[in-house]
Amino acid sequence: MDPTREPTHSRCAISTCGWCDRDGIDCRFCSGTGWWRPQRPHRECSGVIVWHRVDEPCRGCAGTGKEHSPVPAP
Ligand SMILES: [Zn+2]
Ligand SMILES: [Zn+2]
Repeated sequence: MDPTREPTHSRCAISTCGWCDRDGIDCRFCSGTGWWRPQRPHRECSGVIVWHRVDEPCRGCAGTGKEHSPVPAP
């Protein structure tokens, strides 16, 4: 299994976090993977713009893959 597909942390930095105690709600930013994969533009010497994919621990859930700030459905 690709280790980067798994959440980086089982809990966030808050030891009493109520969101981490919940199950079944995947982070809407990373779909529960705990990773955020944005693409960033990079200009080559020739002037061509290429997109580089970067992998970062998800900021929305502190890498736990669990939703930490759901908003009510509109
Ligand atoms: Zn938490
Ligand atoms: Zn997330």
